[in-house]
Amino acid sequence: MEARILDQFRAIVGRGLITETSQLHTYECDGLTNFRVLPQAVLLPALTAEVQAIVQICQREKIPFVARGSGTGLSGGALPVDKGIVISLARMNRILEVDLLNARVVAEPGVINADVTQRVAPHGYFYAPDPSSQSVCSIGGNVAENSGGAHCLKYGFTTTHVLALEVVLPDGSIVHLGSRALDRPGYDLPGIFVGSEGTLGIATKVVLRIVKKPAVIQTLLAAFNTTEEAGAAVSGIIGAGMLPAAIEMMDNLAIQAAEASVHAGYPDCGGLLLVELDGPAAEVEHLIEEVSAICTQCGAWEIRVAQSEAERAVFWKGRKAAFAAMGRISPNYIVQDGVIPRTALPKVLSEIERMSAAAGLRVANVFHAGDGNLHPLVLYDGRIAGQEERAMELSINILRLCVQCGGSITGEHGVGEEKKMMMGEMFAEPDLATMQLVRCAFDPEQLSNPGKVFPRTRFCAERTGPYQPHPLEVAGVAQFF
Ligand SMILES: Cc1cc2nc3c(=O)[nH]c(=O)nc-3n(C[C@H](O)[C@H](O)[C@H](O)COP(=O)(O)OP(=O)(O)OC[C@H]3O[C@@H](n4cnc5c(N)ncnc54)[C@H](O)[C@@H]3O)c2cc1C
Repeated sequence: MEARILDQFRAIVGRGLITETSQLHTYECDGLTNFRVLPQAVLLPALTAEVQAIVQICQREKIPFVARGSGTGLSGGALPVDKGIVISLARMNRILEVDLLNARVVAEPGVINADVTQRVAPHGYFYAPDPSSQSVCSIGGNVAENSGGAHCLKYGFTTTHVLALEVVLPDGSIVHLGSRALDRPGYDLPGIFVGSEGTLGIATKVVLRIVKKPAVIQTLLAAFNTTEEAGAAVSGIIGAGMLPAAIEMMDNLAIQAAEASVHAGYPDCGGLLLVELDGPAAEVEHLIEEVSAICTQCGAWEIRVAQSEAERAVFWKGRKAAFAAMGRISPNYIVQDGVIPRTALPKVLSEIERMSAAAGLRVANVFHAGDGNLHPLVLYDGRIAGQEERAMELSINILRLCVQCGGSITGEHGVGEEKKMMMGEMFAEPDLATMQLVRCAFDPEQLSNPGKVFPRTRFCAERTGPYQPHPLEVAGVAQFF
């Protein structure tokens, strides 16, 4: 990058400019480590005005930029782009306001998810979206990915909890989307921004909704011989009209990995359910009985209800550690993220087992069963020739299976770099073109996280009417702008 541009960046962020190659490597990938690109520079602004000034330079000099929170994304969303810079929001990590009377928190994007709950817990509130990575991932990253978590079954995904945003648009202007009050007239612009994976600009402040902590929380663990039995219990619980706070499932491989890592004391079984119920004491007491009965009918041979907060924490520790624990049982693994209708769980899980046997690769399953949000973990050994390719193929075929069953290629991890080529398997070209019209309205020059999410980038300036493929796209040479 030219020295004169670096000087301009340095004038804005001072020591928050990284250009040393050895330090740039820290930012070359996110949690999806098999994609790597070295950025030209990394900037760590501390204020909205600094983000704005950086983006204004990018706009003037036509430099693509990628926002980065904590870099825990699993779809390559924060992967740097060729000849681009990374804007890390890690230093913008202040909780600016806690408004208990209106149950709102105003946070900068670099605030860590779990810190929001920690801040409001003494007042009897919590921030509901709880990705398993919540002790490290940022609110900005959660917004961009519309992140989910175990308790989103009852409380809703990030989008339900983001009421308003301050955003630096790719042209360097600042806009405020949404409001603290509910149901503003006009387009749901926060709804458009949440889940946009960094392609519409950079969130610099977020107004979050917090929720009153329920009177009682009870967590039940049920052991089954198979995931099919556990899946039938999930359908039974929801079918009976209950909405637990969370229903999570782990298969035997996932249990083995979690046990090796955090010793949660899980039974050695084929399918494990964690069901959490919350609400008034009498209601929870009654529902725990009902859930236990349904689990028993579906074949559960051990049911434990956590008897203390400490025991409940141990139940969750195994589940939350499961992804990272895979390293205990396999040298390499691919984390996949797909969605299916809940009722398809037994069928899809047995089909995954068949596909896994046919590919000669182990697949561990640990997932948000209540939402039908699968996380198959395809295990492989990168040192064995051909295994990585077979693992990739298997994980893509699992996603195809999800789509065939009426589901989706992602539930919460986003499309990013990894799954953009699969978007065409879910959406027809006119649908993709319409989505990119939204992109063009925010970022006509395609500077904000370009090349992500869509299989082909649209050339905004040339379009006024319905989508017509650009001649270069037709020729197949315009994968990126
Ligand atoms: C062990 C593990 C467990 C996980 N469990 C879950 C889970 O249960 N549920 C779940 O949903 N995800 C989960 N994830 C994925 C990941 O943690 C989430 O996607 C998280 O929201 C990413 O946050 P981050 O701060 O790390 O964002 P990053 O990875 O840094 O960035 C993610 C995306 O957000 C964009 N972005 C970041 N900040 C901003 C901003 N301020 N404005 C605009 N765009 C921005 C980036 O450009 C990128 O596209 C898990 C990941 C790991 C490693």
